[in-house]
Amino acid sequence: PAATQRLLLSPGVPLSLPRIQDCLSKGIEVTGDVALFSSLVKAPVAAVTGSNGKSTVTSMLGAFASAQLPRVAVAGNIGIACLDVLADEVDYYILELSSYQLDLVTAMPLEVAGLLNLSPDHLDRYSSAQAYFQSKLSIFDNARTAVINEQLLDQGYASNCGRVLVFGDSPPTDSDHYGLTHNAQGSWLMKGADVLMDCAELQVLGRHNQVNALAALAMGDAMGLDLALMVETLRSFKGLPHRCELICEKDSVKWVNDSKATNFGATIAACRAFTRKALWIGGGQSKGGDLEA
Ligand code: ADP
Repeated sequence: PAATQRLLLSPGVPLSLPRIQDCLSKGIEVTGDVALFSSLVKAPVAAVTGSNGKSTVTSMLGAFASAQLPRVAVAGNIGIACLDVLADEVDYYILELSSYQLDLVTAMPLEVAGLLNLSPDHLDRYSSAQAYFQSKLSIFDNARTAVINEQLLDQGYASNCGRVLVFGDSPPTDSDHYGLTHNAQGSWLMKGADVLMDCAELQVLGRHNQVNALAALAMGDAMGLDLALMVETLRSFKGLPHRCELICEKDSVKWVNDSKATNFGATIAACRAFTRKALWIGGGQSKGGDLEA
């Protein structure tokens, strides 16, 4: 209608729809709930994005923060609308942001922005993998501290941020680097030269979850949380349902529910988590992706 000044879209609505394109061409602002939240919020915000592991890292970080701060709100793509948690008495907001949500907000001010990984997804909605990656990268547009996977660091993606913390599965090179070291006895979560935890103590399965834990620790560090207390909380973190979740063990066979693996990157990470012979039962929509992997 002629009087429309602003469209607040659900992130599930593709921007390519003719009616939305029509609004955009008329100069009508097209935005979403995260942008509205961002214009109203008073407390600091940390946000997590990436192709995989967002809900896991958001929950880990939420658990770390809730153990140390009186009033922490966790929301976003994890299933709670951010406007539902907007309140005067919150100390820190922790948001999970999808690419669809990031497409509907411009230069969101963030205290800490975390990018977990980039692998092709949602090619049924984006024109190319690069267009989808670009959407994810916009999380750094107005972030004070960036937390980024070491595999993405070289591209200079977070160069506008004041501080950059790095995480990944290789041995750390300096104290702003969270990584893993391995020897015959096992693997350890590290910050620089400091050993944080034996990976065998983690209750979540797989190398990808070790990296998720490092990402959450780096983000908590950037938020000013106490590292030793975070490690204590991590020891009791049980993981989320439907994500490499051990359902039962019968006749020496473990049954694992990983039905939240909804793209190839997630599926491959989960399959790699099991060193013993595994039978994989899968199905679903390919979302335009390449099944080759
Ligand atoms: P998201 O919120 O991004 O969908 P989740 O934490 O819900 O991520 O995990 C979804 C699935 O992605 C898991 O079942 C697991 O198979 C996979 N996964 C989790 N973390 C990672 C990671 N760091 N890298 C690759 N795959 C991952």
